[in-house]
Amino acid sequence: MANTIWVLVELEGGAPVRSSLEVLGKAARLGRAEAIVLGSGAAEVAPTLGEYGAEKVYVHADAAYDQYLTLPAVETVSKLFAEHQPTLLLLPTTYDLRDIAARLSMRNGMGLITDATDLTIGDDGLKVTVPWGGETVVTATLTQQRPGIVLTRPKAFSVEQYAGRTAEIENINTTISAESQTIRVIETVEVKSEGPALEDAAVVVSGGRGLGKAENFHYVEELAEILGGAPGATRAIVDAGWLPYSYQIGQTGKTVKPTLYIAAGISGAIQHLAGMKGSKYIIAINKDEHAPIFANADLGVIGDAVSILPQLSTEIKRRKA
Ligand code: FAD
Repeated sequence: MANTIWVLVELEGGAPVRSSLEVLGKAARLGRAEAIVLGSGAAEVAPTLGEYGAEKVYVHADAAYDQYLTLPAVETVSKLFAEHQPTLLLLPTTYDLRDIAARLSMRNGMGLITDATDLTIGDDGLKVTVPWGGETVVTATLTQQRPGIVLTRPKAFSVEQYAGRTAEIENINTTISAESQTIRVIETVEVKSEGPALEDAAVVVSGGRGLGKAENFHYVEELAEILGGAPGATRAIVDAGWLPYSYQIGQTGKTVKPTLYIAAGISGAIQHLAGMKGSKYIIAINKDEHAPIFANADLGVIGDAVSILPQLSTEIKRRKA
């Protein structure tokens, strides 16, 4: 039987989010890609998903999903699973989809693999690549019957174009129960940020404990701004309360894959490397010539980050002028 890979497509401002399209492209390379799109903008988005690999799109244009996606989505996708039994549900790791994946797994007794960076489906079944810590890579599989769920790391795949592909649209005929609508979002507070989002930035400048004190983090922010990038941080300084968790890069933070990653005052612990090792070029500034970060850097600067960062900003500004 052909493999059918489902992708639950998240919407933001009425458009599909990039991470959903990345995973849809991967699904199309694994077999027959089918998308599920839920919410008031679903009907408009559905016909566009063919171009990103979907052969079929299940649509439920109900505003109940706009309020709080998790519970109604779990109910609807569970019903669809029971009816169609796809091979796999493939999801990028986002706050909502992680929540949905865990609930789907528990409710339906389905296997779930998280943190995947790649997967294949061959004659010997599903093989999922999962980095473990920073240095070990595990190949995992699901032993139970299909469908299973795989959550992939952000930026594991790129968006694919399937020009001319038209997806078949099926409107889902279901009513969302009252129990799935018990949570209401009272307020949404948007965190203001002027530069690009950390996950999308082509340049990331990150700071660690070597900056000495929270007040010195502005040197990181200043250089990031001059380079049109985003500032990031290690867990050490997030835990110390210098910055909110949204800045954290690493195993338990965000995964970034910029063209240029500048690590200032960062030792290079495997848990930090897990979130930035995929960067194209890495520059490390550290006063300890034996710091592990240098083993992963394309360019290493041995010195005091607190003095080098502002000098770098001044020099780049001068050359740009
Ligand atoms: P340190 O390790 O203290 O390194 C500071 C560095 O700064 C040193 O190399 C020092 O030589 C250098 N330095 C000192 N002064 C200067 C100066 N003036 N100029 C230049 N260099 C200087 N960490 C993460 O980052 N992200 C994660 O997601 C994450 N997840 C974790 C999950 C688990 C389960 C565990 C156990 C740990 C995790 N960690 C994570 C923590 C990780 O192990 C490290 O403790 C952390 O990354 C260290 O942060 P740091 O490099 O800022 O600090």
